[in-house]
Amino acid sequence: MQPGDGKVLVLNLDYQPINICGTRRAVKLLYLGKAEILEGRQKYIMSPSGSMPYPSVIKLSYLVYRPRPQIKLSRKSVLARDGYRCQYCGRNTVKMTIDHVIPRRFGGIFAWDNLVCACHACNAKKGDRTPHKAGMTLIKKPRRPSYIPYISYAIVDRGIGEEDWRKYLPQKLYG
Ligand SMILES: [Zn+2]
Repeated sequence: MQPGDGKVLVLNLDYQPINICGTRRAVKLLYLGKAEILEGRQKYIMSPSGSMPYPSVIKLSYLVYRPRPQIKLSRKSVLARDGYRCQYCGRNTVKMTIDHVIPRRFGGIFAWDNLVCACHACNAKKGDRTPHKAGMTLIKKPRRPSYIPYISYAIVDRGIGEEDWRKYLPQKLYG
């Protein structure tokens, strides 16, 4: 058996994605009956007891209890909440900025309901004005996220490239 260094998405018993592990660890969990394979790769692992596809997504056969992570307000978490989408024009480009909806100059604070993801163009256009003054509208009202997945943005981000993983990952990072 020669497990590659492929990454495997690990789901909790309730299908919540909780981690990523290496193939070797995933195969061990499968052999011990501690997990079942949900998605396999095209390659097969041969062993005396038969063959098994290289795992891509596995689900644990027991529930791992983990408290919901606390989400800290930061530039990054605001960008993730908004899905890296400009909240004025809806564009989804790589370079995004944080906009204070009510500018600091008018007492706008660094808070969930006053921060949104904005593209450079919209941020520049809005300048130091309220959306109303700038004649711009927000796609949705910013608020503190109510749903926070167990796994980090980095994991979701990596999973976007993995066809098999997509359906098991949250569609929105913070709802
Ligand atoms: Zn924009």
